[in-house]
Amino acid sequence: MEIPKFLIERYQFWKKNTFENYKDIYQQASKNVQKPIAMIITCCDSRILENTIFGGSIGDYFIHRNIANIVPSKNDKNQNIQTLSAIEYALKVLKIQNLIILGHSNCGGVAHSYKTLLDKNNTNDFEYINQWVSCLQNSYSKIPNDFSETEKITFLEQENIKQSIKNLREYDFIDKLINENKLNVIGLWYQINSGLIKILDNNSFIDLD
Ligand SMILES: [Zn+2]
Repeated sequence: MEIPKFLIERYQFWKKNTFENYKDIYQQASKNVQKPIAMIITCCDSRILENTIFGGSIGDYFIHRNIANIVPSKNDKNQNIQTLSAIEYALKVLKIQNLIILGHSNCGGVAHSYKTLLDKNNTNDFEYINQWVSCLQNSYSKIPNDFSETEKITFLEQENIKQSIKNLREYDFIDKLINENKLNVIGLWYQINSGLIKILDNNSFIDLD
């Protein structure tokens, strides 16, 4: 096994600079249990820098990433264990009160899902991804016919956020917290090229300004 040079160089830079400058904060963080201000469920995509966008410091955000930021339905028993175990820990142990689902533009996972669901005879060899993105079937069925392909994929990115929030409520422990006003669920869609963030408000996405 060879450690890539970029990894060593970047680590050394971080240790000598960022860590050194904020050493007290890191040491303090190690003494206390974590108390994040929000959980963020987002995509594996390397262009989503949630800590940068939302000014995160150590201990601020409890992050779960998966392909296309999906919260699977309770009925998807083969799909939901990873995401739900992260949510369960966030809500039951850490008592986090803000749960953010952060989707994004140019999402490869959503685009792949769109193409796979569009062409049922698709013979690609993505055994695991195809199974995972089948969670988007319900959102896919809502795509308007008269949209261009780009508009359809953007629609699917946003509908997936709405559906994931609906899916959250299928789980009794999450639904109970929402009903008791102990959990605030926020749906966001981030546009990579413009930095724009849209927030889900009454079933439509409006600019977060
Ligand atoms: Zn993505």
